Amino acid sequence: MRQGITILGSTGSIGVNTLDVVARHPERFEVFALSAASRTDLLFEQCQRFEPAHAVMSDPGAARDLDARLRDAGLKTRVLSGADALERIASDERVAVVMAAIVGAAGLPACLAAARAGKRLLLANKEALVVGGEVFLTAVREGGAKLLPIDSEHSAIFQCLPDDPLTWSSRVEKIILTASGGPFRQRDLSTLHEVTVEQACKHPNWVMGRKISVDSATMMNKALEVIEARYLFGMRPHQIEVVIHPQSIIHSFVQYHDTSVVAQMGTPDMRVPIAYGLSWPERVDSGARALDFRALPAMTFEAPDPQRFPGLQLAWQVLDGPTGGTAVLNAANEVAVQAFLDHRIRFDQIHAVNRDALEGWSAPVVSGLADLLDIDARARDRAHALVQRIARA
Ligand code: NAD
Ligand code: MG
Repeated sequence: MRQGITILGSTGSIGVNTLDVVARHPERFEVFALSAASRTDLLFEQCQRFEPAHAVMSDPGAARDLDARLRDAGLKTRVLSGADALERIASDERVAVVMAAIVGAAGLPACLAAARAGKRLLLANKEALVVGGEVFLTAVREGGAKLLPIDSEHSAIFQCLPDDPLTWSSRVEKIILTASGGPFRQRDLSTLHEVTVEQACKHPNWVMGRKISVDSATMMNKALEVIEARYLFGMRPHQIEVVIHPQSIIHSFVQYHDTSVVAQMGTPDMRVPIAYGLSWPERVDSGARALDFRALPAMTFEAPDPQRFPGLQLAWQVLDGPTGGTAVLNAANEVAVQAFLDHRIRFDQIHAVNRDALEGWSAPVVSGLADLLDIDARARDRAHALVQRIARA
């Protein structure tokens, strides 16, 4: 029987790659629902091709437009709009698999809905877990969901770990996340304030959405991934390390107590972790090109420079700090990156916003989604004020 799949954020880079893999396996998957913030044209094309039961557009005007076009084309897809609609398509009983590929904390409520409904939850939307933390994990546990990582590093680690999670803590010494170092790994430090939006969005190895591209350039992406690894694999913060590997061939390592290291390798193509998440524990065609070891460049490794990438350290700072700090860091970073993309602050000022937003943060009680949304909103207010102060100076 075919499995129903919902793709949250189907018009983004991960969403498009997911549909590419799904289309290779029509005997396994049936698209139940697709969603997008605003790209009506692409969502319309996807609806024509995959004929989902539902399509969700966040913007009500765009939803009406899509609805009219689908009816003109004689398609039966029902168009919904709004945040509740995302939760509905993530938890519908006809759905077995949910791909979480929305960018940012905006994806958290739908992830929680999928977790509570016991879905196979493929997590690309790392910000949702960074913000949700223990609340997210509790929803997964109580709902009986299966949470599978899509981030290439975390998929790599998952592939290098033993099958039984109960053995991880007794066998694993540490996990080592690889990072490409992004476009500015070798750029003269004194010119970082001149970085343009276009330069920051041009990643050397991967084609991705704008937010994660900027995060890769500041290495805040790796900071979010350290936090993501902490929750996904139950490691203590000091068991997580980061090494720069500019060729992006090794996607991460696990080091065991006897010093033995297991790595996962492949061409940098997100369809590989997506296909693994979709088919786990089986393996299916992903469409990616295999590595040719005879033609590979040399693989090199280096420590991240704390001066060039000051944001990376914030991951361990918030993991060791008061509850809610990971959500504060994420919110500040979303605001700061958007302010950079909108030309309101400079590239090198993103870190100042993130660092200052964390200052004096005190531990609130976090018992559910409402508390998390409250922390997120307050941190955003604070970050907006910091952006305004910088922009005025
Ligand atoms: P993207 O910007 O290309 O796509 C984001 C998708 O989410 C789009 O479909 C957009 O319409 C939708 N969306 C954006 N804001 C929304 C909102 N407020 N409400 C509802 N929908 C919204 O981003 P991407 O590169 O595909 O990344 C998606 C997620 O996957 C991010 O969390 C990113 O960190 C993670 N990720 C991406 C890659 C990659 O290679 N692109 C790799 C690893 C992890
Ligand atoms: Mg990654």
